[in-house]
Amino acid sequence: MTAPGTAADRIAISAPQIGAEVEELVLTVLRSGHLAQGPIVARLEEMGAAMAGTRHAVALSSGTAALEAALSAAGLRAGDEVITSPLTFAATLNAILQLGAVARFADVAPDFTVEPASVESLVNARTRAVLPVHLYGLCAHMPALSALATRHGLIVVEDAAQAHGATVDGLPAGSFGMGCFSFYATKNVAAGEGGMVTTDDEDAADHIRLLRNQGMRERYRYDVVGRNLRMTDLAAAVAVPQMERLAETTRRRQRNAELLSLLLEDVAGLDLPVVPPGRTHVWHQYTVLLPPGSERDTVVRRMGAAGVATGIYYPSLVWQSPAHETHPGVRRDATPRAAAMAQRCLSLPVHPGLRHPTDVERVAAALRAALHDRAAVDAPDDQHRRRPGRPGEGAPPKG
Ligand SMILES: *Cc1c(COP(=O)(O)O)cnc(C)c1O
Repeated sequence: MTAPGTAADRIAISAPQIGAEVEELVLTVLRSGHLAQGPIVARLEEMGAAMAGTRHAVALSSGTAALEAALSAAGLRAGDEVITSPLTFAATLNAILQLGAVARFADVAPDFTVEPASVESLVNARTRAVLPVHLYGLCAHMPALSALATRHGLIVVEDAAQAHGATVDGLPAGSFGMGCFSFYATKNVAAGEGGMVTTDDEDAADHIRLLRNQGMRERYRYDVVGRNLRMTDLAAAVAVPQMERLAETTRRRQRNAELLSLLLEDVAGLDLPVVPPGRTHVWHQYTVLLPPGSERDTVVRRMGAAGVATGIYYPSLVWQSPAHETHPGVRRDATPRAAAMAQRCLSLPVHPGLRHPTDVERVAAALRAALHDRAAVDAPDDQHRRRPGRPGEGAPPKG
């Protein structure tokens, strides 16, 4: 075993920060005998409300449950249209379809979040809500989207699953309407599974609390047809200490991202992630667009062989799957910029598990080597490929 961050160590694409405080709180919960929703979930909710600057926060079993509950609180009816991003995880779209609504897709800006003008072009009499995705930890352009929503009388639901603590003009993610967070194992606060809705709307919060617990207002009195969307105290005990240290782990992500941008700024054809003025990025992922014409699969394989994991978020538009392509709730709106980005995007590790500048330097060096060695990889002659001295050699051939 080598120490974390040393050359022989593999750099993962995400790494939950589980310290002694987590172990202690989990043990406390185990010994209390109270495993299901209880006082630790309540504590997590207080911290979530503080993070988003909202009056209410309702913890749920997942980020997907948060999206579904928020859309349900929005009063969506079958056939209502929800405008969202085509560059997102399936959960965003699935939540819309679960409610029987129709998903419309706005194109994205160069910052990977929906472009307000494109959102506005899709608004019509059936539009009920806008669902921007704060992708990779960067808030969408919420001032313009909020103004647009007010103008057209639309409800705002934010997919903030990747954006704990991000801000726009000093206002936090999750404060613009109903904020949907995730505590899935790879997110910036990781409980294994879990989610949360943040909102100032008393009625929405009440509806979501009811929905979470079978619609039960008081013992065996059911006000709505509900579900079981509860989070457990055991899971909350994993998340609470991470919430306490969120500012610190976010700063580490930001430092790593800044350094990585510095190290990569002269790579020809590579588009680095941008942070528009007024926004703070919390770097759930650091995502570049590879130089046009480069082979992403090859880059991924070579970086992996060099011990640096990468991610492709996402390899296609969210509706481009057998389940969604012909679904009656899916409108395949043209989003050329998002489509081009899905072809070129590659996420590089900047998570707080990278504790030393040398870790970040390894990531940058691995990407440079992977890009510059493309010609060698493309050579048809296998013997030629096995020449010594080339980074990434020795990896088993793919497939
Ligand atoms: C993770 C994620 C979700 C879903 O959260 P779960 O907790 O996994 O259900 C939704 N949207 C986005 C953008 C996500 O990254």
